[in-house]
Amino acid sequence: MADNKLYEILGVSRNASDSEIKRSYHKLAKEFHPDKNPAAGDRFKEISYAYEVLSDPKKRQTYDKFGLKGLQEGGQGGGFPSDDFLGHFFGDIFGMGGGGGRGRGRARGEDTIHPLKVTLEDMYVGKTAKLQLSKNVICGPCKGLGGKTGAVSFCRDCHGQGIKVSYQQIGPNMTRQFQTRCTTCQGQGETIDEKDKCPKCKGKKVLNETKILEVHVEKGMRENQKIFFRGEGDQQPDTQPGDVIIVLQQKPHELFKRTGDDLLMEREITLTEALCGFEFVIKHLDGRDLLIRHSPGEVIKPGDLKGIQGEGMPQHKNPFEKGNLYVKFEVTFPENHFANEEQLKKIESILPPRPVFVMPTGEDVEEVNMMEYTASERSRGREEAYASDDDEHMHAGPGVQCAHQ
Ligand SMILES: [Zn+2]
Ligand SMILES: [Zn+2]
Repeated sequence: MADNKLYEILGVSRNASDSEIKRSYHKLAKEFHPDKNPAAGDRFKEISYAYEVLSDPKKRQTYDKFGLKGLQEGGQGGGFPSDDFLGHFFGDIFGMGGGGGRGRGRARGEDTIHPLKVTLEDMYVGKTAKLQLSKNVICGPCKGLGGKTGAVSFCRDCHGQGIKVSYQQIGPNMTRQFQTRCTTCQGQGETIDEKDKCPKCKGKKVLNETKILEVHVEKGMRENQKIFFRGEGDQQPDTQPGDVIIVLQQKPHELFKRTGDDLLMEREITLTEALCGFEFVIKHLDGRDLLIRHSPGEVIKPGDLKGIQGEGMPQHKNPFEKGNLYVKFEVTFPENHFANEEQLKKIESILPPRPVFVMPTGEDVEEVNMMEYTASERSRGREEAYASDDDEHMHAGPGVQCAHQ
């Protein structure tokens, strides 16, 4: 994939014109100038460098063809930024690619992302979770050198680059560039004699350590919320360690579903409860028993939604404010023939009257039968119904006529 970073820094497309590049540079340079925006850090330097390359036709061409590495190796010299800055710059670029392995010239290590499963209860009342993770730390005895002072020498095979570049002729005036990791130094760009290697880290410069992080899950935090531990990522020589980022993942709750700061639960009630009132108790996320009471006579219909104010989730950073709890009702009806004729008459005497039925007049009235009907049988049932319908017509046709005679 083509290296597009410099264009991205200036926010222009790869085929942007010189004047577009210039315009964008002026705008960004103003915005991120250290006098105006000290917090932006190296952003201004990146912008300047991107402009320096892209405003120079020759450098731009090299960059388009070979990317940043091409610029560095091409030895365009001149106005190149300091090594330190380049390190940071390249570090960002390679860090973003997630390539890893390239030890040299990386100013900031990659972030380590850890999911942390929490319950809805944890997010309601808050919790401190202890998380054990293993990380690389700079080796103490050799201070991250990997060996005695002076034992480290640049790899001669790759000239300290950690990569080897080769070119292949693919047509007249056209070459293709290959980059491969240097096998001599494992991409480190330097080598240490076996006998000079630090006995503790065996030349690796880092040691693996187990560390316990205390993660404070605050009241009201949400699914996918990130908790940052700045600089707790893997350590590497000449590198500012990345962050450890904890991402909260909520385990499903058996009663509540959460949307924002609101909670939603479903409740099945019987027809009797729907008509005559009810009370029930639910266990809330902080252990309280909530008594929910519904007055007799206030009818609940299937699918009705009722809200209880302030019994939702606490707001993050403002936990005394809470969302609402909503209860969605389903009504279960009694089974077939739950009552005899006499009892049904009693029920009917209490319920609102049935709508008045008016029998249509004339001879086109035909009484039909309703059958049990399940969804899976639906289409087959319909086909059969049509089929028998046709049969009926054949036989019933004359029959009807008979009636006329
Ligand atoms: Zn090498
Ligand atoms: Zn060591």
